[in-house]
Amino acid sequence: MSLDEVQSLLALQDDPEQPCCGVNELLDEHIAEIQRKMSELQTLQTELVRLRSRCQNTVLVKECEILKDLAMPSPACGG
Ligand SMILES: [Zn+2]
Repeated sequence: MSLDEVQSLLALQDDPEQPCCGVNELLDEHIAEIQRKMSELQTLQTELVRLRSRCQNTVLVKECEILKDLAMPSPACGG
């Protein structure tokens, strides 16, 4: 949550008689955003763990399965 957003939330206190639904909406948006980021990071972690498992022993760079994997063209449409 940015400083601006925190300030705009606190600014609501200038008019204490208004409904606070905007506060909930803003927090809901942030919660959803964090959920998305966590999901993306989880996917990235899974992919990196999979990649890491391809090279257990130190070998020459030209034989490293991680680098071979990375060099492969990625599928057009994920999957
Ligand atoms: Zn390697």
